[in-house]
Amino acid sequence: MSLMRSMLLAASQNQWLRHRATSYPFVRLTVSRFMPGETLEDALGAAESLRSKKIGTVFTHLGENIKDRTEAQQVAEHYLELLKRIREKGLRAEISVKFTQLGLDLSPELCFEHLNTIIERAQKDSIVWVDMEASNYVDATLDLYRRALSIHPNVGVCLQAYLYRTKDDLAKLLPLRPSIRLVKGAYNEPPEIAFLRKHDVDESYFELGKQMLKAKKENRCVRAAFGTHDVALIRRLGDFASAEGFSKKDFEVQMLYGIQRAEQERLANEGCTSIVLVAYGSYWYPWFVRRLAERPANLWFLVRNVFAA
Ligand SMILES: Cc1cc2nc3c(=O)[nH]c(=O)nc-3n(C[C@H](O)[C@H](O)[C@H](O)COP(=O)(O)OP(=O)(O)OC[C@H]3O[C@@H](n4cnc5c(N)ncnc54)[C@H](O)[C@@H]3O)c2cc1C
Repeated sequence: MSLMRSMLLAASQNQWLRHRATSYPFVRLTVSRFMPGETLEDALGAAESLRSKKIGTVFTHLGENIKDRTEAQQVAEHYLELLKRIREKGLRAEISVKFTQLGLDLSPELCFEHLNTIIERAQKDSIVWVDMEASNYVDATLDLYRRALSIHPNVGVCLQAYLYRTKDDLAKLLPLRPSIRLVKGAYNEPPEIAFLRKHDVDESYFELGKQMLKAKKENRCVRAAFGTHDVALIRRLGDFASAEGFSKKDFEVQMLYGIQRAEQERLANEGCTSIVLVAYGSYWYPWFVRRLAERPANLWFLVRNVFAA
């Protein structure tokens, strides 16, 4: 892992930097590349313009590691309000939640209750996605996910290709007919548990992706979604999917707002399922710094904006 990436990932956890950085106009200007705004209205507006390009939306309200039950309750209520607004606007949109934002650090039971309420209110033909956070949360996240899936078929989980364990996790989940969003992984993980070289992460992603597509073909995976901006990987998996006889529509790629826009549109125009994850909210600092770590070249936008802001 590059030194720059490690430094940025460490900075994403730094409270002092968070308080300072979020007040600088040039930082806020750079953040606007990756999120349409802080409010729910900003996010809904972005979804409407994506809809006009045949691109679906997954919303996520930014926040993680909340400290008390009231905050967890407020987050859950916010998601219920969001689901109501999605229905009212007739949007083709889903949501993605973080368990540490629903109270996992306080009590797994509390987190499960919130998740359960959210899934019960979501439309039955849409998936409630669960993000995967740092490796110390993987066991708890998968435990709660399996429990939710035993009650509701419309819940999906994110798996990270950089973790060695993911191959086994996927194999154990498939008999339960899950929905999976596969990503490379965004946290600072040590070599004892995770691939660090890009080539190794990419090969792990490709192998896991093939397993997901095979399982989907055999009806053992409800949704197989590829959360990546890696055009080469998308092409390899797309070719594999066509060779296996998948229709374009059954090939699903999810990307983040503002990244690889041309590729998002190309996929949608070709008839693939193209979805954009729209993040919004005021707690954007750690999420934004993880975006910088994924592509340190983004730091140039930050530098340029010092003069533009
Ligand atoms: C829909 C979605 C949901 C996600 N959910 C999770 C989650 O729950 N848990 C988790 O750990 N991670 C999550 N991630 C983040 C993921 O783990 C990666 O960190 C991120 O997607 C970058 O990896 P990549 O697959 O795009 O490949 P990379 O090899 O990092 O990038 C491939 C190419 O994409 C472009 N690119 C990638 N990132 C950026 C960026 N930040 N800015 C500009 N260009 C970029 C560049 O052109 C780069 O060359 C999610 C990602 C997506 C798209």
